[in-house]
Amino acid sequence: MRKRKIPVPMPKSRFYKVMCKNCGAENIIFDRASFPTRCKVCGTQLVKPTGGRVEIINAEIIAELG
Ligand SMILES: [Zn+2]
Repeated sequence: MRKRKIPVPMPKSRFYKVMCKNCGAENIIFDRASFPTRCKVCGTQLVKPTGGRVEIINAEIIAELG
């Protein structure tokens, strides 16, 4: 018997490194966060949860972390 490959049913989710537009600090955000992520330095809300992918509102993506 050969082993069958099991497909991964999880939706693709990513982490992004973003820069806060208010203070310039780098933050790591999760693109499927179900809660508003805030800047660790100034507390500005960076993303808005939408039920699926978050909407990035006060930040700029500088890198994708897979
Ligand atoms: Zn900030």
